[in-house]
Amino acid sequence: MLQILKDFPDFNPSLAETYVKEKLAQVCAGKLGFRVHNVVISGYDRARTEKTVVYQAALEYREKGVLRQKRYCLRYASLLPDDSGAALALNCPNCGAPLSDAGETVCTYCGSPLVQVMKHTWRFTEVFEKL
Ligand SMILES: [Zn+2]
Repeated sequence: MLQILKDFPDFNPSLAETYVKEKLAQVCAGKLGFRVHNVVISGYDRARTEKTVVYQAALEYREKGVLRQKRYCLRYASLLPDDSGAALALNCPNCGAPLSDAGETVCTYCGSPLVQVMKHTWRFTEVFEKL
């Protein structure tokens, strides 16, 4: 966590956790009794061009009438802005809508807060169930 904040002073853990929960709700759409117990950061990969925060989530939902406990892994990656000077294409991390103005603090399409997307573009690169 300290290393993440060192690399990304504007990283907002509680906001990121909100995105993780929203992503899980998307992945588990249609599951009955879906509920997230907790979300924790389980790792941090520092590659040269892409840094990835690894989240682990414990959740439950019903499968054929039986309540199942599940573990999910999510990889949340930040691409560093390139040095070419080209304008970085920014998209809303929630709905993917393009952001017209870098000064926007709320997505005009879905209303998601856009605190941390200004400097780095974060996105989920992988979401999978841990067996
Ligand atoms: Zn949006």
